Amino acid sequence: MGCVVILLGPPGAGKGTQASRLGKDLALAHISTGDLFRDNLARNTELGKRAKSFMDSGALVPDALVLDMLFDRVARPDCEKGYLLDGFPRTLPQAEAFEKALPRGTTVRALNLRVSDDVLLERLSGRRTCDACGNIQHMLFSRPKQAGVCDKCSGKLVQRADDSAEVVQKRLKVYREQTQPLEAFYAARKNLTHVDGSVGSDEVFAVLRKSVQGPVMEGCR
Ligand SMILES: [Zn+2]
Repeated sequence: MGCVVILLGPPGAGKGTQASRLGKDLALAHISTGDLFRDNLARNTELGKRAKSFMDSGALVPDALVLDMLFDRVARPDCEKGYLLDGFPRTLPQAEAFEKALPRGTTVRALNLRVSDDVLLERLSGRRTCDACGNIQHMLFSRPKQAGVCDKCSGKLVQRADDSAEVVQKRLKVYREQTQPLEAFYAARKNLTHVDGSVGSDEVFAVLRKSVQGPVMEGCR
């Protein structure tokens, strides 16, 4: 009887960082959909080949295939006690399909990182990436010593297209429309906890940790 921790939150909420920390702390495998894809493509598995055929034609990979990859991954021994999902489910149909496919008796806990659009916009649109070494700096939180120059390698700092205010606003809109309805989905099942994601990373981690160590997680350990 395993447990599944689902981390929800908009782009820029710090899901990836928190998921990785929480996974280590709770000794749960941290599974991101990005890693699932990369792993299957790299190993050229049957599932990877099928996914690639959709991606090559510019189509979305169907939910059923994503679920196949996920359940293939969680069949490994490191997921025996449970696992932590980062970036999945992303839509209501995915959440419904995932719920149907889970073994009976699995404990599910969804943690929702709440951050306002203003804060997200400030976080994401202030990012500058070094085009030589990939180092990420921030105009507010880790200002380059010299404007436009990477502190690590003196390469050129640029704003990725993904981090421009316009694209960030679009990404947030997609999140609010497609993913935010999952809050109501998990709240209706009484397994959602909201966590303030606008405070410092250590503080967020402390609250997340506390909220998954409650009685509901006893089946996990
Ligand atoms: Zn650099």
